[in-house]
Amino acid sequence: MNQTDVEAASAPSNFVRDIVAEDLAAGRVKSVITRFPPEPNGYLHIGHAKSICLNFGLAEEFAGRCNLRFDDTNPAKEEQEYIDAIQQDVRWLGYDWGDHLYFASDYFEQLYDWAEHLIREGKAYVDDLSAEEIRDYRGTLTEPGRGSPFRDRTVEENLDLFRKMRSGAFKEGERVLRARIDMASGNINLRDPVLYRILHQSHPRTGSTWCIYPTYDFAHGQSDAIEHISHSVCTLEFADHRPLYDWLIENLPVPSQPKQYEFSRLNLGHTVLSKRALIQLVEEGHVRGWDDPRMPTISGLRRRGIPAAAIREFCSRIGVTKQDNVIEMALLDFCVRELLNAKAERRMAVLDPLKLVIENYPEGQSEELEAVNNPEDETAGTRKVPFSRELYIERDDFMEDPPKKFFRLAPGREVRLRYAFFVTCNEVIKNDAGEIVELRCTYDPETRGGNAPDGRKVKATMHWVSAEHAVPAEVRLYEPLFTDEEPNIRDGLAAALNPDSLKRMTNCRLEPALGDAALGVPVQFERLGYFCLDPDSTNEKRVFNRVVALRDTWAKLRAKA
Ligand code: ATP
Ligand code: MG
Repeated sequence: MNQTDVEAASAPSNFVRDIVAEDLAAGRVKSVITRFPPEPNGYLHIGHAKSICLNFGLAEEFAGRCNLRFDDTNPAKEEQEYIDAIQQDVRWLGYDWGDHLYFASDYFEQLYDWAEHLIREGKAYVDDLSAEEIRDYRGTLTEPGRGSPFRDRTVEENLDLFRKMRSGAFKEGERVLRARIDMASGNINLRDPVLYRILHQSHPRTGSTWCIYPTYDFAHGQSDAIEHISHSVCTLEFADHRPLYDWLIENLPVPSQPKQYEFSRLNLGHTVLSKRALIQLVEEGHVRGWDDPRMPTISGLRRRGIPAAAIREFCSRIGVTKQDNVIEMALLDFCVRELLNAKAERRMAVLDPLKLVIENYPEGQSEELEAVNNPEDETAGTRKVPFSRELYIERDDFMEDPPKKFFRLAPGREVRLRYAFFVTCNEVIKNDAGEIVELRCTYDPETRGGNAPDGRKVKATMHWVSAEHAVPAEVRLYEPLFTDEEPNIRDGLAAALNPDSLKRMTNCRLEPALGDAALGVPVQFERLGYFCLDPDSTNEKRVFNRVVALRDTWAKLRAKA
């Protein structure tokens, strides 16, 4: 078994699910309320899908609910475009938040009140140190921090300054509000973390109402508490923030006591899953946009033709643990193939056409042959495929001087054209440059449907299309965006990118039924892989993306390397 098979065979663990089940059984929580909390500063990627499937999956399994809450606390980087795209992507993945769409910005007034509450309790203060000085005073992992000279301001002075911060009296960076916890704490997050900073920025939802914004730490747990979240699930990098999360929940008059649990984030081989790097790919023009089919974004995967159900299956198979690891792209491919093998209709398409003329077939004549739409699914029925004197076959399927193991078409050899006839190659026609431009063949009319009445066998069955009936197309073949399984992008993206991640086949020929292919409905091109119509298609030229090849050629290539 290869790596993918091993992963596919073992039952996925999900420790968060176990915790939720135990909490319900022990009566520690009455109903399960989770949330997915994206920051609208980019498009969602497949790492987010892991979190979405976990949070919405828990709600589904335990008859609870999952809120969609935008963590919109940094107007400098957040945009309405991202808010809209994120909602579209979560819905497309198959999840529904019902009426429970929330924004951290909905709670700005409440959060502000709670900040004043901390000030009145002597647990927060306005600090005049600059960001750099704060970093300097904070100490290191081995040295305690030092208290700010402004740490012991009176409640009155703090309230007055904080209100002035809100009313716009200060410039960005001039003052912050900090929690007053413990500058000697072994956990740096507890060394008087910043709760509010000044940002003279317009916010996509609150406009110019605010010029101070809560930090992630001050907004997140309190938003969870307001929404009565029972299990606040996030990725491991927030584990060190949990003591602060708990401190704020304990020290504020919040309406519920949520608990945070952390799991390891998804890392996927041969790509990057950090929004910063994805933004860079888009902005530096390495890809065509967020929905480039090579991108690991949900919109890219969708455009490529990867079904939402395959992403959900992938997320279920990888499980939920605290171990850090890198998942092979091959596992996603495996899920896609498994699903599409059962569901996708089969069609014939020739990516690199070579003309084949059947000399004993009457000119101007054609006939229709019956082809099975999906051998895995009888209910998918059959369709008619036109056959005529001039056909195209795949250039790769012919060799003039074949080596021993090549069983497809060659001079003097007979092969089967799928669903059609046996044909024999009699002559090879070349251009002045010596390139093969046409094959002259004869067919055996007795073999209609693909079998010889005399029982003779052929060693190959090939796909083909009728030249005059064919639909012209461009087909885009994709390989991983990055050469290495764990790309090193510290010195920029360019050097790490796979120069062959996109190959455009611009002269393809499709059987006529593919002229009616629909966006978002992948089909199998027989012998080639799964393909899906791209929105770049026009009536003159269809454009198809290869979703995934039939077999894992990438793994084989690398094994050779
Ligand atoms: P990035 O680090 O790429 O900027 P982020 O974590 O800041 O992403 P958010 O919008 O804050 O992005 O993420 C929303 C939720 O998705 C968070 O709960 C986060 O933990 C989770 N998440 C983000 N990336 C991954 C990942 N690779 N695997 C699993 N969950 C993830
Ligand atoms: Mg984040």
